Amino acid sequence: MFELHVLGTSSARFAHGRSVSGSVLNTPGGLALIDCGEGMQKRMMDHNRALKSSGLENRTRISRIRAIFLTHGHLDHTWGLLPLLQTLDLDGRQNRMVVMGPSTRAAIDWATQHPGEAPPVDSGISSTDLAILFSQWQAIGTKDEDASYTIDWVLIPIDDDQPFKSPIQPLEGVTVTIVPTHHGVPSCGYHFESKGGVGKFDIEKANEMGLSKGQIGQLAQGKDIIIDDESLSADSFRGEPQPSPSLLVSGDTAHGPVGFNAEKLPSPPRLLLHEATFLADKQEKATQYYHSTAADAARHATSCKASVLALTHYSSRFKSLSSFVSEAREHFSGPVAVTLDGDWFEIATDGNVFHHVRVENGWNKKNL
Ligand SMILES: [Zn+2]
Repeated sequence: MFELHVLGTSSARFAHGRSVSGSVLNTPGGLALIDCGEGMQKRMMDHNRALKSSGLENRTRISRIRAIFLTHGHLDHTWGLLPLLQTLDLDGRQNRMVVMGPSTRAAIDWATQHPGEAPPVDSGISSTDLAILFSQWQAIGTKDEDASYTIDWVLIPIDDDQPFKSPIQPLEGVTVTIVPTHHGVPSCGYHFESKGGVGKFDIEKANEMGLSKGQIGQLAQGKDIIIDDESLSADSFRGEPQPSPSLLVSGDTAHGPVGFNAEKLPSPPRLLLHEATFLADKQEKATQYYHSTAADAARHATSCKASVLALTHYSSRFKSLSSFVSEAREHFSGPVAVTLDGDWFEIATDGNVFHHVRVENGWNKKNL
């Protein structure tokens, strides 16, 4: 099961009660963040307190974070990272932390040769490439030997448009796939897939063969047994493995990356959380600034065969978001959710997706 707590749904700046990007992903392999905009640690603490006071068992504690996945280096997605890392040090954290994100080989080489420096304007390397930011953040103290814990800063060079399995897999039992996207700096989305459950045990087959209770018990535990000198494999008593639910978080992107395609991904996501900065009347502007419209997000949802589309990352020009759903529905036949700060999604093991909509004293649970 996955839970995705979306704690910021505004692009670029705070607006209409909406914070900048940052989501908490709870997985069978531990807690992770996807982006970490300004004020993220406080948002997590407030959200955690609200979960607790409404009697829910779900939690978003900063001490539990195992990995932070950054989609790109723009500050509205990263400016909350250092304060959060510092709080963890003050708290005496011991466990390693993985902070990872996309870059280019040129930027990684440059940052290795010029640690802590900004690249010259004519170098073709963006000053908000994560290789540059990581190197600067290390220079101002995150590489401190006196820190209570170690940070693994992981840069993923993006060479082309094709999705690929992440070389670092920080969440046990969860496979992370990097989905290169189209933005003004090296950028990617992340596809998360948990291992499916084992198939159903075929008790009828075992009974028909006249196996004893003890033998059936062994097979059910996954142990092969020997009957009349013949080996019976436990696997042959199991049906098809349960589907492994997956989700895809887009990060910032213009329309068109090849990764938003069911054939290119390990599995079609049950949930696609996709940016929708604009509506289609500003399509030209969206493309120019490497962002999506609600229609673009819906086209990606259709091409990657997502079951549910959830929109986020709205421009501050929009107070009301009602047109986002109607526009997306023209290009995607599945359920469309407008996400607001504090909403969370549950992707159940059977693939069902629930939208927990933030209300004054808790959440309303909707089956999508
Ligand atoms: Zn953004």
